[in-house]
Amino acid sequence: MHGLKLADQKSLMKQPVTVLVGIGTERAAQLERLGILTVEDLLLHRPRRYEDRRKLVRIGEWSQGQTAMIQGTVTAMGVKWYQHHRKSVFELILEDGSGRLRCRWWNMPYLEQIYRAGQTLVVFGKLKDVKPRIVDHPEVEAAEEGDDVSLHVHRIVPIYPLTEGVSQRWLRALIWRSLSRIEGTVEEPFTGYPPPGWMTRAQALFFLHFPDELANADQARQRLALDELMVLQTEFMRRRRNLARNASARSCGGDNRWIRPFLKRLDFALTAAQTRVLREIRQDLAGPVPMRRLLQGDVGSGKTVVAACAILMTLESGLNAVLMAPTEILAEQHHKKFGKWLDPLGLPVGLWTAGRKDSLPASNVASIDRPERPRLVVGTHALFEESFSLDAIGLVIIDEQHKFGVVQRERLVRKGCYPHLLVMTATPIPRTLALTLYGDLDVSVIDEMPAGRGKVRTFLRTEASLEKVWDFVKNKLQEGRQAYVVCPRLEEDGMGDLKALTSEYAELQKRMAPHRVGFVHGQLPADDKVQVMREFSEGRLKVLLATTVVEVGLDVPNATVLVVLNAERYGLAQLHQLRGRIGRGAHEAYCILVGQSRTDAARARLRAFCETTDGFKIAEIDMKLRGPGEMLGQQQSGMPQFRFADLVEDFSLLKEARAIAARLEMK
Ligand code: ADP
Ligand code: MG
Repeated sequence: MHGLKLADQKSLMKQPVTVLVGIGTERAAQLERLGILTVEDLLLHRPRRYEDRRKLVRIGEWSQGQTAMIQGTVTAMGVKWYQHHRKSVFELILEDGSGRLRCRWWNMPYLEQIYRAGQTLVVFGKLKDVKPRIVDHPEVEAAEEGDDVSLHVHRIVPIYPLTEGVSQRWLRALIWRSLSRIEGTVEEPFTGYPPPGWMTRAQALFFLHFPDELANADQARQRLALDELMVLQTEFMRRRRNLARNASARSCGGDNRWIRPFLKRLDFALTAAQTRVLREIRQDLAGPVPMRRLLQGDVGSGKTVVAACAILMTLESGLNAVLMAPTEILAEQHHKKFGKWLDPLGLPVGLWTAGRKDSLPASNVASIDRPERPRLVVGTHALFEESFSLDAIGLVIIDEQHKFGVVQRERLVRKGCYPHLLVMTATPIPRTLALTLYGDLDVSVIDEMPAGRGKVRTFLRTEASLEKVWDFVKNKLQEGRQAYVVCPRLEEDGMGDLKALTSEYAELQKRMAPHRVGFVHGQLPADDKVQVMREFSEGRLKVLLATTVVEVGLDVPNATVLVVLNAERYGLAQLHQLRGRIGRGAHEAYCILVGQSRTDAARARLRAFCETTDGFKIAEIDMKLRGPGEMLGQQQSGMPQFRFADLVEDFSLLKEARAIAARLEMK
């Protein structure tokens, strides 16, 4: 009997809240609105703050301007109406034997139904006046039937996020009871864990809700955050070990026969950073363990050439390579660029997108005097489709990874038999985020820009000066340069904006005449998009009006002016991407943000952006301001949701989790 009970207890954490006394379907529905389904969810329901109620102040000793907490009994209350019954003030008098306190709430007459004379209340607020003592809109907690008072006062108490029908006291008491029910049954999530110096998980759960010092609440938060990070990091370690032990890759180190002429023909030399990164990649490619590497480099740092070299090493080794881009336009651009680079070497480059699957060279190009050559296929998401198949894939490169989810990344890799994988990203993601999203990857960083780049200067303008902005743009066109004009994306706003954009387009054409203006947006058919882009990159179109489809990867060095309309609508990381489209040639470049910032914070944000071109700095600012999920955009699936870990603040905790996970994995 006893053993059975214990088994029951062990799984209690995973059981629905209805196993708890007093939780019927109605209560369960309320809790569900708070995201609480199981007992464990309940115990992980994180207080939004704590109140130190160890020191209750006596009403008679409460001084003006002091923020404090008192406990008293309601002796009188009532609503006063004024301004023809349109406005009201609800007043409530509390006494605690040392004095009287008047609490006031404006325009909340229904409070009269909530409180009653004789009731005991805890009131938290700032004393406005001493004669008489008045506090406006204080926070109030009322005693409930059968309250264990020791839970709610004379201690540090948790204040939870609530939902309708759920009161602080009820929830607090429920959690208290549940904590005592699970006592002795809380298991550590890993064996040999936690390391010395950490509280146990059971302690953490308790102190999260009922700390005896605020510091304990923080330690509890850290312990629970560590657990969250550990789940991911141990999974990364496990994947890496599996790969190292069980998967083998074909050697793709190459023999330089094509890289050498390729590099010679380039009109620039690789930067030291590019060379270093290539050495790291080659070492992986030549080895027996499939490479899993993230290549980070700010926009314009020259990741594409590095990709080309890795591809050539693979082709030299007799294996095929796949390069995947996030958009059709980008796939098209890569296809063209790689065609130009690889054609002279007699290496075929295929294209595989939703719109164009025809350019995949047939496998029967081989003939007696021209044996089949390994090839590169450039494509988009379409590469995931069943219809795409390619044997002997030695290397998969994913460009601009932040547009792809982690799951997709793995799916593409499974297509071949353990090819090497190189993921390239221009979003200079902050380190915490990198370790969370790409914790199973090795990281190479191109931390140096090619020399001889024109400076990019950034300006902030209001719509009032748009006239001058267009004059400036036209001047630059006169000098032979090209310009991007970016409008907020259509996808978010529906067709209404397409109309607005279309008239914007007509307007811009008139202004820029005789220079030709092109227009691309998300709803344009793929073929048309590609066509417009081609004309722009060949210089036949001088201005490109675009939604954010130009955000990633486009490379037109002669375009030196970027005008972003409604700039306040974009995140900084996105603006940085956009700005990365210019400053790619030797000419000075100009980024002009046009917008109306409604708040000081919004203005400060854009101003900070004007002052730095360091993508990592910008990413940190952006993540602090908008949070990691928002920063990466909606496309980012695979972004783990944490209750306790904070990707902005917890970098050292994350490093610790990695170290611990590595140690556990060794055992
Ligand atoms: P990103 O890293 O943003 O993908 P790209 O690979 O598109 O950047 O490179 C940006 C531009 O810089 C391209 O026009 C490319 O040819 C050029 N470039 C790359 N490497 C060098 C280099 N070492 N020296 C000069 N120009 C370079
Ligand atoms: Mg790129």
